[in-house]
Amino acid sequence: MRTYDHFICGPGAKGESGAYIERHSPADGRLVARFTNGTAVDVALAVEAARQAFDAGPWPRMSGLDRADVLRAFADRVLANQEYLADIETEEVGKPIRFSRKDIAGAARLIHYAAGLAADLHGIVYSGLRGGQTGLVLREPAGVAGLIIPWNFPAYVFCQKVPYALAAGCTLVVKPSEFTSGTALELARIAMEAGLPPGVLNVVTGFGDPAGEALTQHPGVDMVSFTGSTATGRRVLRNAAEGIKRVAVELGGKSANIVFADAKLDDAIDGALAGVYSNQGEVCCAGSRLLVEEGIADEFLARLGAAAARLIVGDPRDEATDIGALIHAGHMAKVEGYIDSGRQEGAQVVLGGSRLSGSGYDGGYFMAPTILDRVASGMTVFRDEIFGPVLGVTRFRSTDEAIAIANDTRYGLANALWTNDLDRAMHVTQALKSGVVWVNTIVEVAPQMPFGGVRESGFGREFGQAGLEEFTEMKSVFLTTGTRERTFGHA
Ligand code: NAD
Repeated sequence: MRTYDHFICGPGAKGESGAYIERHSPADGRLVARFTNGTAVDVALAVEAARQAFDAGPWPRMSGLDRADVLRAFADRVLANQEYLADIETEEVGKPIRFSRKDIAGAARLIHYAAGLAADLHGIVYSGLRGGQTGLVLREPAGVAGLIIPWNFPAYVFCQKVPYALAAGCTLVVKPSEFTSGTALELARIAMEAGLPPGVLNVVTGFGDPAGEALTQHPGVDMVSFTGSTATGRRVLRNAAEGIKRVAVELGGKSANIVFADAKLDDAIDGALAGVYSNQGEVCCAGSRLLVEEGIADEFLARLGAAAARLIVGDPRDEATDIGALIHAGHMAKVEGYIDSGRQEGAQVVLGGSRLSGSGYDGGYFMAPTILDRVASGMTVFRDEIFGPVLGVTRFRSTDEAIAIANDTRYGLANALWTNDLDRAMHVTQALKSGVVWVNTIVEVAPQMPFGGVRESGFGREFGQAGLEEFTEMKSVFLTTGTRERTFGHA
């Protein structure tokens, strides 16, 4: 069992309340960690540290190359600690260990990539403005950024934000999820050991209210980058509006995964499984709505069901496990409630449909991989983000119908499609309302490729050059040399 205090200019910063939040493993109920139950006072101390580091510290003033050196050392140390960090992630989240390892290796890659961006931070130059002026568009760090992280990919989402913000020269206060704060605190320690100056990266643990609220309301915070549910995102936006803060929100999703009859079916079946059962289905861009062309639907579902039934649900520490435990009891009840609503509203449960019990399951929150067939667009399971291993299947007859069904959602994070017809692939890609489209693949990200949503999936982009620019402000400089062109001519 690990006990953590806040990380403010370093580890071991005691919280004002003296109280801790206990985290029990969702797989077997063991007490695995205690995190400080942070208050607005704790948040204020962290913001003060980040403010001081930004206003007077070396980090924003260092050359990009020097920042890149620190980030590279950080990435290397993350990789060297892969096993240690993956164990923590698996214990706190309940995700299978081999996927936790992948997350940590992916997180290290993001840091490495951001190091390159730090070295390459640049603006634009315009020559020949009025009277031979030079126009400089400088990219400057946005200031103190408040970063709020969800529980489903704690280390990875941390690294979707933190290294990009550091590359830009910002200083940070991070508020991880109250369920899974361990890796954020460990990563902050590792970053400091790699040479990050004190106060640049601070982590305050605690509940959304009061700790998250305090962070989004604090006048010393210049910008907020939030990843989490759409409901909380609305609240974050209201607070940011009150303080006129820059804000980026990465929110929920209800992605369509469209399979056309001409697709490579083996690939599409593996993709459908990966799309909705990876990370127990607790994925913002999960392909939770399978749209399948009528002509192949019965065969496709029979093969998909057989493959899904072979997935191994169980102890996330076991190397063979494909699907681990859901995050907590309340979430389990929510997922079960959605499956019940599907049944009541006329969907057919063709696989799974219930919580697993018996030896190896009774101490945790394990859900059988579930497929609901005959899901119609009016049903709750079609409309709401379930965030569990539950696939809803809707059949379509034409490309236009597939596009209409896919876009019939308030979300717009990502969509996938499977076809061998290049014309159709491009036509559908252009018609889909989402920030990301996967063609003949699914649930994929790359450090270079911007990721983010439209509609109620939020706005702002992470990863890539765009992910760096989120954390910068532009300053336009009119550089005038020689004799300035007269306005009145009386001088
Ligand atoms: P959540 O909204 O409940 O919590 C997210 C974070 O916000 C947590 O750290 C929480 O403590 C904090 N929080 C809660 N109330 C707050 C408040 N009033 N003010 C400030 N912060 C507050 O989300 P979750 O359950 O942790 O995560 C699951 C959700 O995250 C899903 O909807 C999922 O789709 C979304 N998500 C989106 C992306 C993306 O990139 N778009 C990635 C991962 C997860």
